[in-house]
Amino acid sequence: MALIDEIRQEAKRLLEEKRVDVIIGYRKGTLPLRSTPAFIRNSDEVEGLIFDPTCSNNLASFANRFEGKVGVIAKGCDARSLITLVVDRQIDKENLVIIGIPCPGVIDHRKVRHRLRGREVVDGLILEDKVVVKGRDLKEDFPISEVLSGSCQVCQYQTPPVYDLLIGYQIKKEGRPFEDLKEFKEKCPGERRNFFEEEFFRCIRCYACRQVCPACFCEYCIVDRTKPLWFGKTTDLSDTLMFHLIRAYHTAGRCVDCGACHRACPMGIDLRLLNKRLEEEVAERFGFQAGLDLERPVPLSAYKDEDTQEFIM
Ligand code: SF4
Ligand code: SF4
Ligand code: SF4
Repeated sequence: MALIDEIRQEAKRLLEEKRVDVIIGYRKGTLPLRSTPAFIRNSDEVEGLIFDPTCSNNLASFANRFEGKVGVIAKGCDARSLITLVVDRQIDKENLVIIGIPCPGVIDHRKVRHRLRGREVVDGLILEDKVVVKGRDLKEDFPISEVLSGSCQVCQYQTPPVYDLLIGYQIKKEGRPFEDLKEFKEKCPGERRNFFEEEFFRCIRCYACRQVCPACFCEYCIVDRTKPLWFGKTTDLSDTLMFHLIRAYHTAGRCVDCGACHRACPMGIDLRLLNKRLEEEVAERFGFQAGLDLERPVPLSAYKDEDTQEFIM
């Protein structure tokens, strides 16, 4: 049976047996090569579910917005974010069914646009390991690997490490989680600062990166507060850097490198690099990777006597 048929069958069963009140998955979007999150309460609607490399949202960011029991069709990164939300007590595990699926990786539309030199796509589809696009004076196909999201190129957990039920097969792959950092780490501290200043100078403070991120779960974000006003709401570099540093610290130990923030950013800012560097730091200092363990708290939200404290002068 095809993977999508198994997904629909399992979603239908969970709804009919009343194991869940809603299934969160994907359905076809209105634009070519786009999907959109689907919230399915009625078993008759499962035929609308899809799953392919256009399914790029991290669905964990919707899971804590529903009353009752929620079933989430979860790629590796979505499942890890769900586990992090359970550990952070944002979701009650009793109300969550993680429907794990093997993930082939998702496409990055910025790379597609670049590959097509900006020509408009009127129709597009995924055919096995190829992207097929059509438009005015345009008919092309190219391997998905050419437009794969940066996160997916180094992903270690295409199959969710934790799930309630797994559909399909296990993908076993050697991940290279911190390979993207190699070039960045060769820079001296001044060059690193310049790099981030140049990147964040382009930030328009639209907060798309925050909205799509399951690790950004605060009900009332510090940037929206006015009493006290911790820092300004302008796009001056100092205000922008403050926002990104605070977000990076909040997501340290929670970020699963799903790449959703980077894909959502209208300015194409390389957000993954900062989060990735902190992910590496957390891995080295605490031997911790987000979303692998339901029992272990996020290191920056827990205290241990033996934690290193070399930052205290
Ligand atoms: S990061 Fe991994 S699990 Fe997530 S979309 Fe990419 S390949 Fe799939
Ligand atoms: S910070 Fe970005 S990469 Fe990390 S979990 Fe949030 S959206 Fe995903
Ligand atoms: S999505 Fe991009 S432009 Fe918008 S706040 Fe985030 S970094 Fe800035």
